[in-house]
Amino acid sequence: MSPLREGRETCRTWCAAPSVAFMCRVPRLLKGADSFIAVKTTAGKGFARLPMTFPVGADGRVRRARQVPSPNQDARPERATIDLLVIHNISLPPGQFGGDDVFRLFTNCIKLQDNPAYASLEGLRVSAHFFIRRNGELIQFVPCHRRAWHAGVSRWGMRTNCNDFSVGIELEGTDDRPFEEAQYQVLAALASSLCTTYPVRDMLGHSDVAPGRKTDPGPHFDWQRLKHLMTVCPRHF
Ligand SMILES: [Zn+2]
Repeated sequence: MSPLREGRETCRTWCAAPSVAFMCRVPRLLKGADSFIAVKTTAGKGFARLPMTFPVGADGRVRRARQVPSPNQDARPERATIDLLVIHNISLPPGQFGGDDVFRLFTNCIKLQDNPAYASLEGLRVSAHFFIRRNGELIQFVPCHRRAWHAGVSRWGMRTNCNDFSVGIELEGTDDRPFEEAQYQVLAALASSLCTTYPVRDMLGHSDVAPGRKTDPGPHFDWQRLKHLMTVCPRHF
């Protein structure tokens, strides 16, 4: 069992020998909350300097995330438990990275005339809790204890409307391109932190909770890579 959190397994438990497991697990712990890693990026030239931890504050905000408040949020249902992480991808214009139109979409400022592909976005009111850019930058739009509008019509198990009980994490990307290592590093650190803060049981793709309607994060999303990097995992992952 994990030394990090009673009752939760770490992702390193598949390491056969205890010494190997120890070596797998310890570097992140020893480096502490103020550690950073350098990750080579293809999005920009050189390396991105990324935090290795993203603590969630009592106000549901991650201090190390850039805060861009979205109006597309509301209260979760009374007694809702945050026990699901939903992974998405998004890029605007589709397939183009590095612009600000995802910010504009999530803050209801997108200019529909800027791109013919935006016609379908008219009247759309959406958001996510987090957005991870290609260079690993983390942006937060909605505090975790609030409900972001990311999953739409959705179901997991016997429950519908996954927005009620999930945290939505968008990766800048598309279904047909691999994601950046910097994104996996930040996603793993963020998701691990969320698992220590909330009773997260599952981590799924949007396509898992809205099959037939959504396809993200798509076939290029490497779940095993994510699992390998996480220090604390949901029970079912
Ligand atoms: Zn999605």
